[in-house]
Amino acid sequence: EKTTIRCAGCGIPLQSEDKNIPGYAPESTLSREEAICQRCFRIKNYNEASSITVDQDEFLKLLGGIASTDSLVVHIVDLFDFEGSIISGLQRFVGNNPVLLVVNKIDLLPRVTNWNRLRNWVQKQARESGLKVIDTVLCSARRNIGFDRVVETIGNLRGSRDVYVVGATNVGKSTLINRLISDYSDLKRELTVSRYPGTTLDAVQIPLDDDRSIIDTPGIVYESRLTEIIPRGDLGSLLPDKPLKPLTYQLNEKQTLFFGGLVRFDFVEGERQSFTVYASGALPVHRTKLEKADALYEEHKGVMLSPPGKDELASMPSWTRHRLRIPKGSSQDIFVSGLGWIKANGTAGAVVDVHAPRGIKVMLRDSMI
Ligand code: GDP
Repeated sequence: EKTTIRCAGCGIPLQSEDKNIPGYAPESTLSREEAICQRCFRIKNYNEASSITVDQDEFLKLLGGIASTDSLVVHIVDLFDFEGSIISGLQRFVGNNPVLLVVNKIDLLPRVTNWNRLRNWVQKQARESGLKVIDTVLCSARRNIGFDRVVETIGNLRGSRDVYVVGATNVGKSTLINRLISDYSDLKRELTVSRYPGTTLDAVQIPLDDDRSIIDTPGIVYESRLTEIIPRGDLGSLLPDKPLKPLTYQLNEKQTLFFGGLVRFDFVEGERQSFTVYASGALPVHRTKLEKADALYEEHKGVMLSPPGKDELASMPSWTRHRLRIPKGSSQDIFVSGLGWIKANGTAGAVVDVHAPRGIKVMLRDSMI
């Protein structure tokens, strides 16, 4: 009978068959005295505290467990996909524990951004989505902007409590956790990975100097984000890696913009006005007349209108049409989760249709910038 070898770091049974399943360790390392799984190996070596992806139910069960602890909850959201990455309902699951909102990827906004206004916007949006936060910090984990503030604020707010870090996938949680690991952890101390009671999840615990820990929770997958449903290879064209260069289009009614072949935007009704696109520069935008849009799509999808490419079209959900009415006198963004947003600059009001893959979050919001 085969004996189970367990990871010396977290206790998970080791296996060398599948890299993508927890407990993986290369065959050659299994005979070592203190064999550890790839995840613990990465944590020990500070490279990558990878998130394990779980379904919503498991995730909520995990969050439910936070309510019975005495802790600080750090919720990381992606500024570029704010409404798509905010965990609505977080409040219900964390109980009375304070929530610190960390808004990541601010490096993506144009340099001229008014940061005070942005902070107010973030706080208002969080409040409106039912989240009560004790503080908000804007940062860029990648460009190391505002990170000292994040560490300092966590230090001040946690008192002598544990810290739970929660977020959707791709918000930059691993990038941030890796920074926290290198800021907080003492090389000589053993980093432990432990199991959440009542779930099958493994969590990364970064020991703090007072016997408390920072606990990294798995990234939650929201299928309402374009970034989650497109083929992996196309992610690079959706996730911007440089500051956004807003592109302004003067449109007459009955004109259409295609974002690759992923999303179609129709200006259905309204006075001539400008719309400003905030999306990755790697995503091609094509402009056409509304009456020609269907035919153009049929002829050019998968090639000129890509991503998705020809081979990937079949794997994408079909489009749903969202009719949005932009009220007179207001400054609104047409937000498409994972794609970015289109700011309607006109104050005369407009009716627009957004065609997006089924299930993707499409909504109007007060303009971010
Ligand atoms: P996780 O899934 O939440 O753990 O996110 P990752 O840390 O793996 O980051 C997801 C993607 O966002 C990667 O492509 C990162 O390079 C990118 N990313 C992380 N932090 C930032 C940031 O501050 N700015 C920008 N522009 N990209 C970031």
